[in-house]
Amino acid sequence: MPSVPSSASTPSILPNASTPSIPPNASTASIPPNASTASITANASTGSASPRPLRGRGAGGEGAPLGEFTLIERFFARSTPERQGIGDDCALIDIGSQTLALTSDMLLEGVHFLPDVNPEDLGHKSLAVNLSDLAAAGARPRCFLLDLALPRADAAWLEAFSRGMFALAQAHECALIGGDTTRAPSGPDSAGLLTIAITAIGEVDRDRYRGRSGARPGDDIWITGSTGEAALALAYRRGQIEIPEPARSACILRMDRPTPRIALGRALVGTATASIDVSDGLLGDLGHILERSSVGAVLYWPAIPRAAVFGGLPLAMQYACVLAGGDDYELVFTAPASSRATLQQLVGDGVGVSRIGQIESAPGLRLRDGEHHGAPLIEVNLQSFDHFVAPSPGPLGQASADVAALEPGADGHGDKTGVGS
Ligand code: ADP
Ligand code: MG
Repeated sequence: MPSVPSSASTPSILPNASTPSIPPNASTASIPPNASTASITANASTGSASPRPLRGRGAGGEGAPLGEFTLIERFFARSTPERQGIGDDCALIDIGSQTLALTSDMLLEGVHFLPDVNPEDLGHKSLAVNLSDLAAAGARPRCFLLDLALPRADAAWLEAFSRGMFALAQAHECALIGGDTTRAPSGPDSAGLLTIAITAIGEVDRDRYRGRSGARPGDDIWITGSTGEAALALAYRRGQIEIPEPARSACILRMDRPTPRIALGRALVGTATASIDVSDGLLGDLGHILERSSVGAVLYWPAIPRAAVFGGLPLAMQYACVLAGGDDYELVFTAPASSRATLQQLVGDGVGVSRIGQIESAPGLRLRDGEHHGAPLIEVNLQSFDHFVAPSPGPLGQASADVAALEPGADGHGDKTGVGS
């Protein structure tokens, strides 16, 4: 892998970075040459009766692939009271005077993590992605269940995995209360694949619970921290980009050790009208809020926070990572404009919050090159990760394809030499 000269302060894209093709369903980023003037095409609300359960990318008609959210809606969603049903980051159940929030997330080798992942990082991340769903619901973590399918019983690996997991669990006073452990079956030529599934349980304030369906026209859209660095780390790991230190380590930390925004999620109780955690990409996850709330939105591109490392990258790659890169585990939330002054002061989990757009009644999601109404619309064609509508299996493959499909100069501004040196 070519290395970046130590004096380089911006990432460079390696020569092999342009090989994957963009599939016809445009699951990867494609920016037209006049990128500063058109409108965003993200899968957003169609304005039907609210709340709609799930977003339906991949309609699943004759011959069409069944998308992840369509198949959940079609085969698993049943009529239940809204807060107990499918569609939010957590489901709620009332037990006596308490209301519990439940969520479960699964991590598969080769799909959610690379086979050579550091087991301590994996232990942390397996729990973190679940706590992130509790954070989205404003829940206080209580306990969790751990299911493991292990290819082998390796004491050193298990020691490191459990160390990473329990360090995060202790930090949030969240106890492991049970689970299940099996051997992952292996074939004659293949080792079994590691699978980790965690169910996390938290407590919420029943009367002030927020899901994804409470966004209203006029609400501001906010985000915690910043997005995109995890996607950049993945591109680096796949040899598609070189990132100089210290930015490289910062990106890798974002990918391997996500911080669930528990404190911020709690602090937003009573203020935020809707929220979601960004696991699959900012546009797609915000799209879930729009869909469930039957509203549309405008995002202000210059207001969307991004790490300094993106300053040296083509705009197309910034769009792909910041708007559609997964694995960030920030919270996107909506709140009335009357809470602006309070929210601007909000800090927690080591980050602040940024106001990045506004909810509108017109369906769809628009990206504008500024906040004022005359600011030009930006057209990007990006989709967040879908397990069944993806150019390659798994978020790891998807995010890398997003980044790899972009070449220096593909930013619509004609700058062919805008990265590295
Ligand atoms: P998240 O990214 O927050 O984990 P997902 O986008 O994976 O949520 O899932 C969307 C919704 O669909 C959630 O409410 C989740 O609980 C629900 N869901 C996902 N898979 C299933 C399933 N197999 N059966 C029932 N509900 C499911
Ligand atoms: Mg979530």
